[in-house]
Parts: sequence; C-alpha cells; structure tokens
Amino acid sequence: MLEHWRVRTFECFPCIWINPHPCKISLDLFANSFAKGIVRWFRKAGFIYSVALISAALLILAPGEGASEELCFDGSSAFSHLRALVEIGPRPPDSPGAKKAQEYIVKELSRQGLEVREQPFAAHTPLGPKKMKNIIGVVPGQTKGILVIGTHYDTKLIEGIPFIMGANDGGSGTAVLLELARCLEGHDSPLTIWLVFFDGEEAFVKWGRDDSLYGSRHMIGLLNESGEITNVKAMVLLDMIGDSHLSIESEMLSTPWLKRIVWAGAMKLGHGKHFTDNACRIMDDHVPFLEQGIPSIDIIDFHYGPGSRTNEYWHTVQDNLDHVSPISLTIVGNVVLESIPHIAEHIAGD
Ligand SMILES: [Zn+2]
Repeated sequence: MLEHWRVRTFECFPCIWINPHPCKISLDLFANSFAKGIVRWFRKAGFIYSVALISAALLILAPGEGASEELCFDGSSAFSHLRALVEIGPRPPDSPGAKKAQEYIVKELSRQGLEVREQPFAAHTPLGPKKMKNIIGVVPGQTKGILVIGTHYDTKLIEGIPFIMGANDGGSGTAVLLELARCLEGHDSPLTIWLVFFDGEEAFVKWGRDDSLYGSRHMIGLLNESGEITNVKAMVLLDMIGDSHLSIESEMLSTPWLKRIVWAGAMKLGHGKHFTDNACRIMDDHVPFLEQGIPSIDIIDFHYGPGSRTNEYWHTVQDNLDHVSPISLTIVGNVVLESIPHIAEHIAGD
C-alpha cells in the first residue's frame, strides 16, 4: 500500500501483552461466584426478598451503551478469519486467490445474516484491464445515514516475490471487519453501517492517483452516479492493524473530530498506549471519501517490523502469521465498536 510522508516521530512505548478477553474472563468468574451467592440467598432469605435484591443487582450491572459490543469482539474468531485468508495465499486483483477471498468474505457475511452487495468492475491498470470486486455487508440502521467501515482485502503484487501473504496488509482489516459483522448483526444504531471490503488498494507498478485505490475510487463513482453519496456521513478505514507490536499512527489527513472520538475510545478501554501521537500523512482508501467532503479516518500502524520504528515486514514475505496478533485485532475491533455510538451522536448533533 501507499506512500507516506513522515512528519515527526516519537519513541513508542513498548507494547504490554494483555489478556485478549479480560472482561469476559472476569465476568465469567464473577458470574460463577454470583450464582453461588444466589443459591445461598434463596436458602437464607425469602423468595420475594431475594428476587428484589437480584433485580437491583442486575440493574446496577447492566452494561451501558456500547459495552455489549465491546464484550462481543472475539480475537480468536477474528484470527481464524485471518488464518483462513493467509491459507488462501496471495490475493492480488484478478487472481485465483482474490476469487477465493471474495467467496470467503461473501460466505461469512451471509452467515451473519447481513445483506451482501457486490460491486464487480473492470479497472484499467498499467498491467492492462483487471477484474475487481468490492463487497459490502449492510447492517441496517434507524436512518438512511451511512457509516462506512472499510478495509482492503487485496495483497500487493511484486514481481519476483510471489508469496506475499498479506497477513497484516490486506488480511488484518478484513479479519476485523468479518468479526465486526458478527458483533453488529442486529445492532440497533441510528446509522446504517456498511462494512466495505475494497479490492485493488495496492498499486500495480508505481503508486499514484491512477495506479492505486481502485476499489474506493470506483465506489465513490457509483455513489455519485446514484446520488447516494449524500447519505454517507462518515468513513472509518482499518489498514495494517494486526502487528504484534501495535502502534497506531495519528494520520494527518484524517478528520480531527473522528480522531478525537477514536483516541478517546482507546483511552477509555485502556488501550491508549497503542494509539500514539506519531504523526504520518498516508494516502489510503479514505482519501477518495475525504475528497468528497466525507469525514474520514485511517486507523493504521505503519511501523510493521521487529522494532517499534521500522517497517521492514511491509510488502515482504515477512508479512505472515508469525508477525500478527489476535490481541491487536481485539484492541482495534473493540475501539471501533466503542466509537460507533459516539460517531452517530456527533453526526446527529451536526
Ligand atoms: Zn500494501
């Protein structure tokens, strides 16, 4: 993917490995002891007295808005999607791998009961015409206003390096969106959510306006043709978010109020150290949306390598399962879920 201009960098704090499901585990333990407590109450106290106390406890413990989605995201499930994509092999546009990836994404979205829309198109590339396809999973909302949560699923084609598996670049965002599909099914939001899987993000020869971002540019064209562009209220892009040493950049083209919401969500969930103030300017699938005046954010870690300040694994055979983590997928997935109601609230207030 993408060109970037690094403006300034700061030392990253070392990542701290945490349990991917701390809330679930602690809730399980709590539920166990809570159940034993209930039995003791029923033995010692009268039935009506016990029911009243239990009801009060459940009211106090009821999760707030967004909390149920926070608990929903399963890093191991997301990682199983990632593994399945990597096992397909390289997935550059118009390849057997791309076709298998498309079938996998459609199957998984359908399995979650989402309406699936496919956008096949022919792209003119420096290597000739290529068949590409965007895929959209639709989560209905209370209004026609649309929040796009996007990623790209294609992998980089480099002559002489046939085995770029794209575990992080192409795989990680796709895996998180497929797990989000499971969490968001039946989600009651003011905004309709489109989970968008873009094809053709990567350049074939040299990164530039005409050789990159094929899928997102095509989608913007269709939205303008249909007039539906006015319904798209915001765009959240996930790219390269699976690095075992997760360090999300502050991407400078991204819309400031979206960055504030996402960074606040990360802080609230205790993931603030992974969302840094390292400033980067990155051309990615959010740019065609920004050019239409649609508030957009690119959530990206452009330091993919053995240290916190290198990008050595990017577009190499090292972009494999050894260098990505279900914990990183969980962190980003939960931060996105935490951010959705706040994004909807901001849009409603405009
Ligand atoms: Zn790439």
